[in-house]
Amino acid sequence: MVEQELTPAQNLMATILKGIPSEAEITRIEYEGPRIALYTKNYKFLRENNYVISDIVNTVKRRVVVRTDKSIRMEEEEAKKILLSQIPEESSVSTIFFDHALGEVIIEAGAPHILLGRKEKEVSFSVEKASDQIGWKIRVKQAPHIQAASLQNIYYVLKNQSEEREEFYRKVGENIFRPRLTQGSQVSILTLGGCNQVGRSCFLLITQESRILLDCGILPSARNPWDAYPRIDWADIDLDELDAVVMTHAHLDHSGYLPALFKYGYEGPVYCTEPTLALMTLLHMDYVKLAVMEGTHILYEMRDVRKMIGHTITIPYNLVTDISPDVKLVLNNAGHILGSATVHLHIGDGAHNIVYTGDFKFAKTALFDAATWNYPRVETLIMESTYGAKEDLVPGREEVEGILVKSINETLAEGGKVLIPTPAVGRSQEIMLILNSAMRKEVLTESPIFLEGMISEATAIHVAYPEFLSRDLRREMADGGANPFLSEYFTVIEHPSQRDEALKAGPAIVMATSGMLEGGPVLRYFQELMPEEKNRLLFVSYQIAGTMGRRILDGSRQVSIPGDEGKIKIVDIKSRVEKIDGFSGHSDYNQLLRFVGKLRPKLQQVIVNHGERRKVDNLANSISRIYRIPTLRPEVQEGIKLF
Ligand SMILES: [Zn+2]
Repeated sequence: MVEQELTPAQNLMATILKGIPSEAEITRIEYEGPRIALYTKNYKFLRENNYVISDIVNTVKRRVVVRTDKSIRMEEEEAKKILLSQIPEESSVSTIFFDHALGEVIIEAGAPHILLGRKEKEVSFSVEKASDQIGWKIRVKQAPHIQAASLQNIYYVLKNQSEEREEFYRKVGENIFRPRLTQGSQVSILTLGGCNQVGRSCFLLITQESRILLDCGILPSARNPWDAYPRIDWADIDLDELDAVVMTHAHLDHSGYLPALFKYGYEGPVYCTEPTLALMTLLHMDYVKLAVMEGTHILYEMRDVRKMIGHTITIPYNLVTDISPDVKLVLNNAGHILGSATVHLHIGDGAHNIVYTGDFKFAKTALFDAATWNYPRVETLIMESTYGAKEDLVPGREEVEGILVKSINETLAEGGKVLIPTPAVGRSQEIMLILNSAMRKEVLTESPIFLEGMISEATAIHVAYPEFLSRDLRREMADGGANPFLSEYFTVIEHPSQRDEALKAGPAIVMATSGMLEGGPVLRYFQELMPEEKNRLLFVSYQIAGTMGRRILDGSRQVSIPGDEGKIKIVDIKSRVEKIDGFSGHSDYNQLLRFVGKLRPKLQQVIVNHGERRKVDNLANSISRIYRIPTLRPEVQEGIKLF
């Protein structure tokens, strides 16, 4: 008989089995997306002897995760009863979710530190003991302060697609760990969007083994579909040839087209951080809702958004993850919005390393630490240039906060209201924290702060993922410390009927979406407040060319907005209009340059994208002049050989 050669997968499994003592009672070894899952009947043994797993990881150089065998998992109802009987009330548990595909129970608690046994030592609940009793792994998470529809939707999908997800994870794993066809490595990218423009960011990375899409956004202000969406049609690729889609962050100019990929048949994985998935879900749900309400062309529907959720594999920062036979991915903090990441791709055993920044802030903000810069290696940098012009300089944080406080104080003193149009995600929470802290320190006149639109749900997602906030904020909130997002200064407008309260109130601050006055509840306040001189319109975020916000910034003092019953309403702007730069989640000109200068060893090339043409040109010129690094400034629909 001829001995059959083992496949690489069988070899891998055999190696793993060799390294495990029989007490571990391993029943199955299976791919689980980029991880290898070991199913055990004795979870306690592997937990208490964790060297077993570290030894395996060191040998096979793959991510390994331990799962409990299905035969030892207690029925959901019974397990829930046991948990409820043991969980102390003061931990304020709001959700207990059973993820059948992974054998994990997620316990969301208002005070998770109580369950995790920090601080209140006398509490008897033990995650380990409870886990051994019910046969499920337990993960304790911070609960959001209000029910967030987007988070509920994610649970709904995870629950309803648990069988498909098991199958999906296995297939993705087989695809990632398939044998390589060649040992060489060549890397090219096709630019599908986001070049010499801010919007529809999308690159296709091509190696000898893999096809990977980086971001997949829309350009909301575009007039025709050729300009609005990534040119995947031009790339002439079947969606099932894609190995993976990697998302830097949730903003629609980076993620807005993603559900459409699923509508047109993509079945593969999306990689991003957990908050990015939550925030994308929020923004996509809102996009669908608005399109239905306004009867505009609908790009995708809720079922496509759900399909996207079911195909997303979330990964934490700083963890090396195989995403194809020759590409390893690491997501790092980008400092831009919650969960935003720079993408580090390690190709062909280190033959070439790419960092794609997405949007990034290379300075500390109220919410986040500065973007990570100490990559082990990087030859090609693909970077944004939103603020790439020489004059795009922002004053230091304290100075900017001072300008904001002064401007608001002046308006309040004159009996006026301050209207701050903000994008729901990112700038809103940054401004909220600054206002809260300034009122606490009594430098900002105390007044109600009304929040409207998606701001409160986006804030709930910030509350749910404290581990993605800055070190300082985490320290402040650790072990039950006060959460600044939940300050008593904030009043959430939950229903349009409450708007009158905000409009009638005396001096006040109103924050509402959308950030560029392109729609949303902000327009309701806009039409009431702008005709009065004592009020003030305060922009705190980037205004894309072609939007109403930009037109007003450029000097328009009479604008038309959609009024009631489809009529157009003319609004005369008599109030003061001001823009305060520096709250942006983007790096300014100096920060962009400083970031490039920090990278070691010296870069081979820099590709500049995500900026108006003038900004791209200026930043590219500066980089080649100052650092003597070759720069590229491609158009959309170009192919570039990197290596
Ligand atoms: Zn962004």
